Amino acid sequence: MTKLTTPFEIYKLLDKSNCKKCHEKTCMAFAGAVYQGQKQLSECPLLDPAIIAQYSELIKGHDNPDQVMEKVTAELKEKIKQVDLPAVADDIGGVFKNGMLSVKALGKDFYIYPNGDISSEIHLNSWVLIPLIEYITHHQKEAITGNWVYYRDLKNAAPKDLLFRQQCEKRLKKIADAYTGLFEDMIHVFNGEQIENQNQSDISLVLYPLPKLPVLISYWKADGEFESDFVFCFDSSANKNLDFESIFTICAGIAAMFQKLSLRHI
Ligand code: SF4
Repeated sequence: MTKLTTPFEIYKLLDKSNCKKCHEKTCMAFAGAVYQGQKQLSECPLLDPAIIAQYSELIKGHDNPDQVMEKVTAELKEKIKQVDLPAVADDIGGVFKNGMLSVKALGKDFYIYPNGDISSEIHLNSWVLIPLIEYITHHQKEAITGNWVYYRDLKNAAPKDLLFRQQCEKRLKKIADAYTGLFEDMIHVFNGEQIENQNQSDISLVLYPLPKLPVLISYWKADGEFESDFVFCFDSSANKNLDFESIFTICAGIAAMFQKLSLRHI
């Protein structure tokens, strides 16, 4: 197995809830601390022991957390500068106007400038920014097919399926079990719609965390001996418009976002 050679690779393993139980302000700060050897993966209490055992020996680092964030931001800026923003606007479901590209990501407006600057009405979180920039830079103009596939069916995603179940689906299942307003909130935030129930689920929604990345969410309520369940599916074109790592990051971000929202209601 290859070594984890950047803080972002470590960050992708984390819960992304910024819960501070590791005594760092954010998961990204924790990833930076692990990267430079100041913290151990095992100091995140939300990380599965199997993941800790699998990855602890594979971490190799040298930067401090500030350098880490600087590196990530600089990397994103350079990527944006290589893109012809007016030319890609239509393909990615954005608008180029007044010298900037506007795109909706995870329900919020983001503005991207040709010099690589990014602004938004909200705080710029790495878990939104990184997938957004990947989406803008790597999309392959693939049309939406209407065929739904599981995360494990996306190209190269199978080895991360267990982690995906744990950090995205199981976490949202727990929220949905306790907070019935979750699905209405999701529709509202992500411009989504309730559709005819898929696979005999009790609730099925289609959401748009990115304009051309539809996500199907299915939820089954607990029934007798059967536990409830929560499953994400993706359009079979998803991998052409966004890599499997970024899709993971988006879904983990959705879980973290709704965990915070639900705390206000439970
Ligand atoms: S999820 Fe883990 S790494 Fe992130 S803030 Fe909480 S304890 Fe720290």
